[in-house]
Amino acid sequence: AHRVAATPIVIVGHVDHGKSSLIGRLLHDTGSLQEGKLAQIIESSRKRGLSVEWSFLLDSLQIERDQGVTVDSTRIPFRLGDREFVIVDAPGHRQFLRNMITGAADAEAAVLVVDAQEGAQEQTRRHALLLRLIGIRHVIVLLNKSDLLGFDETKILKAEADVRALLARLEIHAETMIPASARDGDNIAERSARAAWYKGPTLVEALANVPPPAPRTALAFRMPVQDVYRFDDVRYVAGRIERGTIRVGDQIAIGAQKQIATVAEVCRWHAPERPVAGAGESIALRLEPDLVPDRGDLLFPAHDSANAPVRAARVRARLFWLRTEPLRVGESFTLRIATAEYDVTVASIDAVVDLDDLTLNPGDHVQPDGFAEVTLAASHAILFDPFAPGLSGGRGVLVDRFQRIVGGAPLIGAAELPDGAHA
Ligand code: GDP
Repeated sequence: AHRVAATPIVIVGHVDHGKSSLIGRLLHDTGSLQEGKLAQIIESSRKRGLSVEWSFLLDSLQIERDQGVTVDSTRIPFRLGDREFVIVDAPGHRQFLRNMITGAADAEAAVLVVDAQEGAQEQTRRHALLLRLIGIRHVIVLLNKSDLLGFDETKILKAEADVRALLARLEIHAETMIPASARDGDNIAERSARAAWYKGPTLVEALANVPPPAPRTALAFRMPVQDVYRFDDVRYVAGRIERGTIRVGDQIAIGAQKQIATVAEVCRWHAPERPVAGAGESIALRLEPDLVPDRGDLLFPAHDSANAPVRAARVRARLFWLRTEPLRVGESFTLRIATAEYDVTVASIDAVVDLDDLTLNPGDHVQPDGFAEVTLAASHAILFDPFAPGLSGGRGVLVDRFQRIVGGAPLIGAAELPDGAHA
């Protein structure tokens, strides 16, 4: 039977608004805690003279991760009925941002935790912008610490309006705003008796309503070339199918040159021979004629111009800047998209996001942790699918000459040439 993949979610929010507490509470209330964990939390809470402190749970998971005990350090699995979820997390704020930006997280839904008493704060704005930037489609707002407002409807609706205004400016559609207390467990898995006025879902119900990730097999075929292997006189083009399907007999185009070949054979490493393969599978193709693509070349259907990737030497990117020194026009980097690498120069900084009011303004540099729209000029044509939520394409990453990731740069389209220039 076809197994539905776990739905990845991220939990974001201003420091101290209750993310760790929420994760602990969620794992506990959904019965996802390992044996002994709860006793451990109660014990460490008691030692600090506290009632149960859920955030300690995360700390203890953190310690396991640091010690390399947990196999996959950034994924915390839990189950709701027959659905599987994973909370995608990373040790440290910057590592977390990096994962989000580079697509490692690939989250389907996000829970934005906002302290109902404090309302949206600086990191709330940053994180909301990030969710917009990476195209998270389902945003659930948790108005946490509502216990501190006595679950008072008027006060909580005021906090809700505040967050709504922020999200509206970012064109983020939040499906649900849930008055909750991660500490006490109100409206997490159990409906709160203290907020009888609230008719919406609990967090667990809201998560259960998030549609599972759509299978990518229905989309037009894409496979970035990872390698070309040679066995005797036969060459195999290896890669992981990003989306769509491929079968023997299909005609494909290769890279920006759009050389055409026919698929003569579809091979898998450890699986029985089948003439067809789909999204997510790592395969090797034998092509006729026996062309030799380069690593990074994108394979796509030869006769589907409506769904063809964009080819451009100047591209517009939404940049999230991670380096500790500001970015200026004229700097050069390597742009990575899947397995492809291009030499690019920042041709212009077109708009910089003001993190206080989220307006786009002219600017000549981008601050660390800043957002901007930039134009990148490449030495040769870039072939890409414009970034879109839920699709794999366009996830550009900027790398400096020391191989450090300095920015996330989802490509949003081809850029116009400057006035007076000719293609
Ligand atoms: P994080 O920095 O977002 O991970 O926040 P924590 O989960 O560490 O919580 C910060 C502080 O807020 C801790 O002292 C928690 O006990 C407290 N806290 C978290 N959730 C709630 C809540 O629902 N109600 C109240 N009153 N305190 C909370």
